[in-house]
Amino acid sequence: MPIDLRSDTITQPTSGMREAIATAEVGDDVLGDDPTVKQLERYVAGLLGKDAAVFMPSGTMTNQIALRAHTEPGDEVILESQAHIYYYEGGGPAALSGVMCRLIQGDRGIFTAADLAQVLRPSDVHFPKTKLVCLENTHNRGGGSIYPLSEIEAIAQVCQQNGLKLHLDGARLWNACIATNTSEADYVEAFDSVSVCFSKGLGAPVGSALAGSNEFIERARRFRKMFGGGMRQAGMMAAGAIYAIKHHRPYLKEDHLNAQTLAKGLQSIRGITIDLKTVQTNIVLFQTLALPAPILAERLKLKGVYVLAVGPNTIRAVTNLMVTDTQIQQVPDLVELALNEN
Ligand SMILES: *Cc1c(COP(=O)(O)O)cnc(C)c1O
Repeated sequence: MPIDLRSDTITQPTSGMREAIATAEVGDDVLGDDPTVKQLERYVAGLLGKDAAVFMPSGTMTNQIALRAHTEPGDEVILESQAHIYYYEGGGPAALSGVMCRLIQGDRGIFTAADLAQVLRPSDVHFPKTKLVCLENTHNRGGGSIYPLSEIEAIAQVCQQNGLKLHLDGARLWNACIATNTSEADYVEAFDSVSVCFSKGLGAPVGSALAGSNEFIERARRFRKMFGGGMRQAGMMAAGAIYAIKHHRPYLKEDHLNAQTLAKGLQSIRGITIDLKTVQTNIVLFQTLALPAPILAERLKLKGVYVLAVGPNTIRAVTNLMVTDTQIQQVPDLVELALNEN
């Protein structure tokens, strides 16, 4: 069995989850008939402390529909410079919502309330209307970095003072909550809308949800249909998501422990640089200075360890449900072997 650390999206349904999927009660969800989708939406809204939630096929769709529902064409959205919404969603903000993206350079994906206050402009016919601020927790390109709750609260205050909405890309919110021992509802209280994902570390085959006020979610449902995300017997997928939240979520703790084990093992290898402070959840970023990252990744693949080269000298390894602690313990030695090959 390969040790697949390319992403936490490689996680496959467990047998318990397959059973839940096979026996799910279903209906036509576009007609409002699917009881399992409704159950998931109520469950997620409750966990996040919001009025309502809507189930969608992907995290890209939840984020892009949130942008569309919060804005009108020509509006400005403020994002961190490496935000998934800006960096990895195919130009969606421009193509689907016609919005301007204004970027703030953060520290591993985290910007402060003071950074935000600095880019805000007064109301003036010269400027686009700023409508929305988006944060990401944990931050993907930041290496799974955790957004401090106190900073979120300070940012929310700036948003309130300036009439701005606040959206969270919480694809890995579950990881931030487990790592900080904070409830989801407490972590997202300050947000107007929240996107969460079931198909990453939680291991469901498909699905994300967008949560917010009743009025906002009603508007989002219209855009979901317009964007082609209305699904029929989606209870099959919702059942996987419910199972994932109930039964797989606690295992994120193991993923985080495995990430620590891996990081500490890598730290002692000559030719590898890693800053342990940057390993906060299930994403491990490290530098390979002696050998280009794509070559090291290729050599590791031949040894059954799959990782991604995310920069000329940077490798990303993501611990996940499919990888055991015993496997993780083998990885540093395999990295050392791969580095020392000629
Ligand atoms: C994976 C991810 C998404 C959305 O992913 P999909 O592949 O579209 O489901 C959104 N935000 C972040 C931070 C992600 O890591």
